[in-house]
Amino acid sequence: MSGDVTVISGPSGVGKGTIVRALASAYPQVWVSISATTRPPRPGEQDGREYYFVSDAEFDELVATDGLLEWAQVHGAARYGTPLAPVLAAVDADRRVLLEIELQGSRQVRRRLPGARYVFIAPPDAETLLARLRGRGTESEEQVRRRLQTAQTELAAAGEFDHVVVNDELAASVAELVELLGL
Ligand code: 5GP
Repeated sequence: MSGDVTVISGPSGVGKGTIVRALASAYPQVWVSISATTRPPRPGEQDGREYYFVSDAEFDELVATDGLLEWAQVHGAARYGTPLAPVLAAVDADRRVLLEIELQGSRQVRRRLPGARYVFIAPPDAETLLARLRGRGTESEEQVRRRLQTAQTELAAAGEFDHVVVNDELAASVAELVELLGL
């Protein structure tokens, strides 16, 4: 599989979802993969929009049938994965494919698609990230603690990526990505 694929990674709470959504709404040629996950929907989330919310058995089936480009267990809890067929279809349709996934998944994609573009979204500083992780308000203290732990591991891996975008301000981060993708 060749085509134009960009993997966007970075710690949870860094704002990568917002950046990706802003980019996709401004550029119709951009196609954002919708992941499958075993975590339950948060208030306001819709099946097939933010994620495909699946059962453990359904996720097992996706893994067993090689239906995922990559997958990972996140924060020691739910599993998340990128359905392969829609990515292949988007590449075939010459779309600019964006995968917004965490570190372990991006490493798997790099093994399968070494020619893809790998972008790390970093927080301006650790305090901002902490505030954002807490600010979401939908997680328990224990969940926030786990997210912070994962975030530390992820921050340490920024050097593995081709590009690092420091998300100080949304518009500036989107503009940087527009440049990187040559949109
Ligand atoms: P959340 O539960 O906050 O929506 O996402 C938690 C983490 O899972 C985020 O860091 C997000 O980037 C990551 N994630 C979402 N979808 C996928 C996926 O398909 N694969 C992998 N490896 N990570 C994903």
